Amino acid sequence: MTDKHAVLKEKFGYLSFRPGQEDVIDAVLAGKDALALMPTGAGKSLCYQIPALLLDGMTIVISPLISLMKDQVTALQKSGCEAAFLNSSLSGREYADTVNRIQTGRVKLLYIAPERLQNANLAQFIEKTRLPLVVVDEAHCVSQWGHDFRTSYLQIAGFIKSIKPRPVVAAFTATATVKVREDIQKLLALRNPFAINTGFDRPNLYFEVQKPGDKKTALFECLEKRKNLNGIIYCATRKAVEEIYDLLVRHGYEAARYHAGLDDNERKKNQDDFIYDRKNIIVATNAFGMGIDKSNVSFVIHYNMPKNIESYYQEAGRAGRDGAPADCILLYNGQDVRINQYLITRSEDDEEANDDLQAHKLELLKQMTFYTAGNDCLRRHLLAYFGEQSPVSCGNCSNCLKEFREIDVTQEAQKIVSCVYRLKERGRNFGKTMIIDILRGSKSEKIRRFGFDTLSTWGVLSGTSAHRIRLIMDFLISDNYLRTEDDEYPVVVIGNSKDIFNEEKRILMMLPEERKSSPKNMDLSAVNTIAKKEKVSSAGVDTALFEELRKLRKEIAVKEAVPAYIVFSDAVLREMSCKKPVSLVQFSAINGVGSVKLEKYGEIFIDLIKKHAT
Ligand code: ADP
Ligand code: MG
Repeated sequence: MTDKHAVLKEKFGYLSFRPGQEDVIDAVLAGKDALALMPTGAGKSLCYQIPALLLDGMTIVISPLISLMKDQVTALQKSGCEAAFLNSSLSGREYADTVNRIQTGRVKLLYIAPERLQNANLAQFIEKTRLPLVVVDEAHCVSQWGHDFRTSYLQIAGFIKSIKPRPVVAAFTATATVKVREDIQKLLALRNPFAINTGFDRPNLYFEVQKPGDKKTALFECLEKRKNLNGIIYCATRKAVEEIYDLLVRHGYEAARYHAGLDDNERKKNQDDFIYDRKNIIVATNAFGMGIDKSNVSFVIHYNMPKNIESYYQEAGRAGRDGAPADCILLYNGQDVRINQYLITRSEDDEEANDDLQAHKLELLKQMTFYTAGNDCLRRHLLAYFGEQSPVSCGNCSNCLKEFREIDVTQEAQKIVSCVYRLKERGRNFGKTMIIDILRGSKSEKIRRFGFDTLSTWGVLSGTSAHRIRLIMDFLISDNYLRTEDDEYPVVVIGNSKDIFNEEKRILMMLPEERKSSPKNMDLSAVNTIAKKEKVSSAGVDTALFEELRKLRKEIAVKEAVPAYIVFSDAVLREMSCKKPVSLVQFSAINGVGSVKLEKYGEIFIDLIKKHAT
């Protein structure tokens, strides 16, 4: 096979590439290093799996978690790709067998944990193997400024250096700030890499922050609305995991638990219970989930606030990998900040004192706290953290979905515009914050220094919240009554504002109701997404057939001892229950049906679909 499109359909069953995939594949095939930032669920794996299948020799994939390698390799094998992994979970015999396959050129993709790179044996038995490409998945692990730094990742550069000729190196991550990005490039010694950032937005995720009086009640309300859906509940500590797990089990929920205090066997079993759809909820610390590929997770609830936005976005991002609508809910109270402060300051006790790093972590915690505090669009807040611009309102988060009412803001608008006029008369332009401060009658040092407390508009909106003034100002800007200009910083100037003072003219805008603290308000938004979700999933899908297909998939998965999504993802079954293919040709046109699966499962699925039709 020589062509990326052919491999895409033949091995993975997909008809077209997703944004960014082709660019990375082309770069790597052209021999360039790559650094790809793509959100969870964007399809990073294909970006290196396809080149690996096309290049001559064996690609090495460095991936941090042993438990996941097996699933990834199984999924590849089920699609007819020659893949293998090496880690401590293999028996002596399996290990020898894998080594033999490598040495006889029967492995195209070798997954390996970073801890094993320095292993002398490895160097020996890959000595004669051609290695065109080394892939570093979850590459942010290389940087101590990120959220899950791993010392073993620092060995990667040395390993790459030892390979002659130097292979192409491709690094992938879902979350990286500028600092982490720079570290990846430097610490992996990437050479003039092709860099791509497809943006962090995950439009199918709904974000919500709740500040409930009682978290447990709030949690039950959330779960009650999401019965039978798969979800993860993250807690900050092992103790909290145990407590919530007990509570759920006592109330009859099918829940599993996961944290570093459990022994390996139980942890593995609990994780599998969740991945194999035997339990629909897992209560876990952040030890759970790195690289988890389970695609049908419908909600992620944070019972405690995480330490920083990167962790939050990565953990929440485990919902909705299949592209279906999914909910990310954070239950917040002030206690969360204190727990995290404690965890951050304490963890430094056993390491070398590193004041800079600790201060950095406390700063990141502060940023996380701002996320829970604001009234502005949550998605915009998250994306801005990663340096990405987005619209003022996404319409799919709890802040955006708060009830809106059409409100007459004529008087406020006049006062705001007047204030900008008065400043202009004094030959000055200022940014929004200063204008808001003047209108609200601030007595700050700066205001007094400029003498703005003598302006006629000083304090004329003293009873209005800064947030509301900002919203109205944004509205006036978007409707051209005011404009922004870039001075040293963005300033607000007069736009087309004449008729704002016309007696007849009324200025109406949609404004969110000011936040009530009762949880009722929050419920509304949750109900909204549920309604939306049903709309999406019911579009053209024969739900009865979908359920039957799921049953069949489960039978196959049990027989083959693989997670259900490795047989077919929910998205594939949904398309089948829409299009109802009754011939092999029609079946192979379903997105996600490759040639191996067509041959293996085509007939039995078609039989079921035919039977269902009669
Ligand atoms: P990431 O590693 O970026 O989080 P994955 O590589 O695990 O994401 O892919 C997420 C899901 O998207 C998988 O189920 C994968 O099969 C699917 N996928 C990837 N590329 C495509 C594509 N071009 N068309 C349809 N589905 C795709
Ligand atoms: Mg991945």
